[in-house]
Amino acid sequence: MIREGDKVLLIDKRGKRYLVTVSEREFHTDLGILKLSELIGKEYGSRITSHKGEEFRVIKPDINDIIAKMRRGPQIIHPKDAGIIVAYAGISPGDTVIEAGVGSGALTIFLANIVGPDGRIISYEIREDHAEIARKNVELAGFSDRVTIKLKDIYEGIDEEYADHIVLDLPQPENVLPHAVEVLRPGGYFVAYTPCTNQVHRFFQAFQEYREYFYRPRVVEVLVREHEVKRECMRPKTTMLAHTGYITFLRKL
Ligand code: SAM
Repeated sequence: MIREGDKVLLIDKRGKRYLVTVSEREFHTDLGILKLSELIGKEYGSRITSHKGEEFRVIKPDINDIIAKMRRGPQIIHPKDAGIIVAYAGISPGDTVIEAGVGSGALTIFLANIVGPDGRIISYEIREDHAEIARKNVELAGFSDRVTIKLKDIYEGIDEEYADHIVLDLPQPENVLPHAVEVLRPGGYFVAYTPCTNQVHRFFQAFQEYREYFYRPRVVEVLVREHEVKRECMRPKTTMLAHTGYITFLRKL
């Protein structure tokens, strides 16, 4: 049942989504004004009608809806890449993950959702403005209980003594290798997301010095080809998100 203060996702007849918090206020759209208090006591899956008679479906938002609607600072990690990070590193409920940089907090939210209330995400960020955006986004997603955002350059060191995994989205992940060998548990993963091939190349040059600490270096790129689903024709879409980044996985020995 929907209560005052809940976040709900409204979907109009065109498929446009609106993320709103249920309260006494009115919500204005080009299809008319909605009285959000009418949602209190209704079930997810029900409908609400605007003053122009337009219907909106009401569902519970998930983290993808929150990430799609939240404020963006720097470029975020796409769900296809976040998915493979979680899957290949085996990130699990209860894990402690050290992350940098936090950026807009999209990956932070994915990770916080996976580790659950018993897990911890400790996110390093050098820019105060990015840390502030991420803090608000993490709060919007409801994960402030398990996420700590630190204003600190991770290249200078990691304060924590233990991590199940380290996940990086910053320009020079090789600078974190000396700190990772100190804090990463055996079997845990070092994951680095980098958009350019020369970054991957530079990383593996530096990695030679740390080879003995890690098992099975692996670099992947994720390509998702979506299909158009129309009654008269199903076929691959003519455009796709062709390149986002390379994801490097190292497993600590
Ligand atoms: N993964 C984030 C997301 O999904 O929203 C986006 C990260 S953004 C592309 C990269 C971030 O790394 C920036 O906010 C930048 O300020 C931060 N950064 C760069 N170097 C850093 C460092 N040495 N320590 C901590 N943060 C750093």
